Amino acid sequence: MDVDTRLAEDWVRAIAAAVEREHERLTELDSAIGDGDHGSNLRRGFAAVLAVLDSPDAPAPDGGPGALLTRTGSTLISKVGGASGPLYGKAFRAIGAALPPPGQPPADAAGLGEALAAGLRAVRDLGRAAPGDKTVVDAWTPALDAYREAVAAGAGLPEAAAAAAGGAERGARDTEPLQARKGRASYLGPRSIGHRDPGAASTALLFRALADTTAARAAED
Ligand code: ADP
Ligand code: MG
Repeated sequence: MDVDTRLAEDWVRAIAAAVEREHERLTELDSAIGDGDHGSNLRRGFAAVLAVLDSPDAPAPDGGPGALLTRTGSTLISKVGGASGPLYGKAFRAIGAALPPPGQPPADAAGLGEALAAGLRAVRDLGRAAPGDKTVVDAWTPALDAYREAVAAGAGLPEAAAAAAGGAERGARDTEPLQARKGRASYLGPRSIGHRDPGAASTALLFRALADTTAARAAED
């Protein structure tokens, strides 16, 4: 399966739908160890992304998936004030920049893995969080590990994305016993223990959306 413009757009729309469905849960998680705005931050951001995709100024289909994801990232950066806007914004911009431009062969499962790795690098460069700090990184890292392991074992994109979604969901759950060392939750010190990190939970939505999108495309072919 190739990473084409439609796949990228379907993925972004699936994330927006997941955020719309789950924003209250994300905000509840952020109310426990942050300032209670993670769901509304992402909801505002992805509503703006959908508005761009549905506007006359939407990225052109022949601009390739990279341009669409880069534009998604820029929109998140400009519309989301919280920590998650720049973090996810830079991640999408990095994923977009890592995908081949139009005219070159599209990315396959391995190519998308490299792009997702570039996304994680962008998050880590900006936020300086390491695994175990109770952030987005704690879901993204096991997602990427599971994705790469699946590709190395010969999996195609839908199977690798499903493995990544499982890894992200496990990673998000595994943030519960951790003490936050980055972001607002770190101000709570040991009182951050016993709660799931909201950003790790939204990263799990992002990877589940990729799994759903690639599975739906596979069912078409
Ligand atoms: P804010 O903390 O500014 O209110 P959000 O509530 O939208 O922003 O996002 C909070 C999430 O951002 C946290 O749950 C965490 O996963 C993530 N986060 C915060 N700081 C960092 C960081 N330095 N590196 C990676 N992720 C971070
Ligand atoms: Mg917050």
